[in-house]
Amino acid sequence: MSVLPTIQIQNLNHSFGKGNLEKPVLVDINLEIYPGEIIILTGPSGSGKTTLLTLIGALRSTQSGSLKILDRELHGASSKQLVKTRSQIGFIFQSHNLLKSLTAWENVTMPLKLQPQMKNRKALAIEILNLVGLGDRTHYYPDNLSGGQKQRVAIARALVANPQLILADEPTAALDSHSGREVVQIMQNLAKERGCTILMVTHDNRILDVANRIIHMEDGCLIS
Ligand code: ADP
Repeated sequence: MSVLPTIQIQNLNHSFGKGNLEKPVLVDINLEIYPGEIIILTGPSGSGKTTLLTLIGALRSTQSGSLKILDRELHGASSKQLVKTRSQIGFIFQSHNLLKSLTAWENVTMPLKLQPQMKNRKALAIEILNLVGLGDRTHYYPDNLSGGQKQRVAIARALVANPQLILADEPTAALDSHSGREVVQIMQNLAKERGCTILMVTHDNRILDVANRIIHMEDGCLIS
């Protein structure tokens, strides 16, 4: 049996603006990413990385081409289908966006808000915080955690719904070298143990070695 790609993109184009002001930002993108792969996307600022990540994350509608995530076509998909796809993806951003008024475990349960029937949310959050090495910080508020610890809470939050795909935008940018390394090692273990596919935008040269493939973007085009 052949393995289905987690991400399958064919002839994807995207532009911003209209008429004379139209600016192509993604140009004829073709890409396949398979389960368990860790892919790093690099390229200069303005080359289109974030736009591509937001399309893959179903955070924005596609304009042309084909974009299949977890075997679901997103081009022309309804907003309901986009929401469904989004709920199957874990997002990790540079600014972790933890809610200051919630403890670590409460922050981790946030993506489960859509599943109010789920009874063991606290136990699950604590189990995942253990997995990222924060078993002794479950009741801490973000202000009492270091930058690396906050990013690990954000990873735990991205994992709680057991996503097959994780999208990360500069996850180590705000971290010192040691914490950055720890964070990517956790992500690497996840890819291995859970078969998670990870697509990560980064400028951080210190972590390039975790990637199975590094894809470079320039002026909206992919250069492998
Ligand atoms: P990168 O992540 O590689 O820095 P982006 O995808 O953020 O690149 O941006 C690519 C180009 O698209 C840039 O020229 C940027 O100014 C433009 N752009 C991004 N988002 C928008 C938007 N919402 N409206 C108009 N232009 C945008």
